[in-house]
Amino acid sequence: MEIKITKNPNPAPPLDETKLGFGVKFTDHMFIMDYTEGKGWHDARIVPYGDISLSPAATVFHYGLEIFEGMKAYRTPDGSVQLFRPWENIKRMNNSALRLTLPTLNEEDALQALTTFVRTDERFVPSAEGTSLYIRPFMFGCEPNLGLHKVKNVKFMIIASPSGSYYDEGIDPVSIMIETEDVRAVRGGTGYTKCGGNYAAANRAGEKAEQLGYTQVLWLDGVERKYIEEVGSMNVMFKINGKIVTPDLIGTVLPGVTRKSIIEMLSSEGYEIEERRISVEEVISALENGTLEEAWGCGTAAVVSPIGKLVYKGHEYVINGGKTGALTSHIYDELTGIQWGTKPDRFGWTLKI
Ligand SMILES: *Cc1c(COP(=O)(O)O)cnc(C)c1O
Repeated sequence: MEIKITKNPNPAPPLDETKLGFGVKFTDHMFIMDYTEGKGWHDARIVPYGDISLSPAATVFHYGLEIFEGMKAYRTPDGSVQLFRPWENIKRMNNSALRLTLPTLNEEDALQALTTFVRTDERFVPSAEGTSLYIRPFMFGCEPNLGLHKVKNVKFMIIASPSGSYYDEGIDPVSIMIETEDVRAVRGGTGYTKCGGNYAAANRAGEKAEQLGYTQVLWLDGVERKYIEEVGSMNVMFKINGKIVTPDLIGTVLPGVTRKSIIEMLSSEGYEIEERRISVEEVISALENGTLEEAWGCGTAAVVSPIGKLVYKGHEYVINGGKTGALTSHIYDELTGIQWGTKPDRFGWTLKI
């Protein structure tokens, strides 16, 4: 695929790594490609980062036809830059596209778009410990038509934001509220896709949890509100009696790349992993009888986020004395070691760009 590059005539000053934050500052460029029915994807280009123009009738504004991905580029000790399992993000984006009737991407073209874009803005990949360049590919319907039919005009874009360390002051366990009213997903719905609408529907419960002093919500299944699905926008795992238990992928849970990587890594280390339904009752009785050893959320942003406290129907339960567990720390060290290139990548997960 040919990618036309127009350099930003007003490049940003050199990166100040002490003030990175998350998702508010962007790199000098963005990638855009258009899709037109009958013509397919065309006009792949990298242009100066900036506003885009859309019809007020564009599908995305009215019917939420939007999907996205989240991944990072990491600076390694030798100064090079690498991606972590980008193939997984591309496959997942295509699965999201199929569910939302958006066009799929050619996998090689998508990888070329990612690598060319990151190479163009390579100087924005920070090097301080724990920092990275957060990459946000996204796709949306732009048809100027209030009738919702087959979407004939679509854009695929990539933007990126240099981001600070998630754990400035070391890994800190979080308090999580089990949400018993709102639900995130049902079977047959869009739970397994990364679509904007899922986040819109989840925001109310997240805000409520925050107001009550909790970091995030733990989502239950949408039918019986009995089985555990995810925590905030992370997958969730429990260590019960030495075994790792995590909800299985039945269409309601987002298939996280971090989840998959942890499962593969821990299996290779001999851990027993159960991907299955797990009820709140089971977790609470494991808490009460002392067999729940650790619990953590996992996703690209935090890698792992230990759960120190769970609240369910007004009762608070403390996990592992409210401290980060040994296995949670181990997962964090191993995975971040591979991602930032300080440990050998024995799985072939990284891609130097
Ligand atoms: C992105 C996301 C995750 C984590 O996926 P990763 O690929 O590990 O970053 C988990 N749950 C939800 C709802 C998500 O949107």
